[in-house]
Amino acid sequence: MENIPKDLRNLRACLVCSQIKTFEMFEMDGCENCDKFLHMKHNRDNVYDCTSANFDGMIAMMSPLDSWVAKWQRIGHCVRGMYAFSVSGRLTPAVIREMKAQNVKYRSRDLSTNVRHVPS
Ligand SMILES: [Zn+2]
Repeated sequence: MENIPKDLRNLRACLVCSQIKTFEMFEMDGCENCDKFLHMKHNRDNVYDCTSANFDGMIAMMSPLDSWVAKWQRIGHCVRGMYAFSVSGRLTPAVIREMKAQNVKYRSRDLSTNVRHVPS
């Protein structure tokens, strides 16, 4: 599988879908689920802005459609891969605006606070 991290150093989690990959993988391929609006491919600045090195838990999602974990984590529509249980950090307002423009709902992946929604 292409998007499973080959290296456990330098891991980061996507702030939108919580997928975990290395910095280099995000820079090389972007996030398979979110690159339509995060534009991380070949863009280091966006990788820094849209992923976080501060995350908790790792979930391997192999069959998204019949996984209860996937449903519970709201990643049932995402590609197979490694996902974090909780991701700390926030998207920049510019990214949130871009997502809105593409009709994508942003929910924070940060379970360490009660802030689950960004006010519109
Ligand atoms: Zn993502």
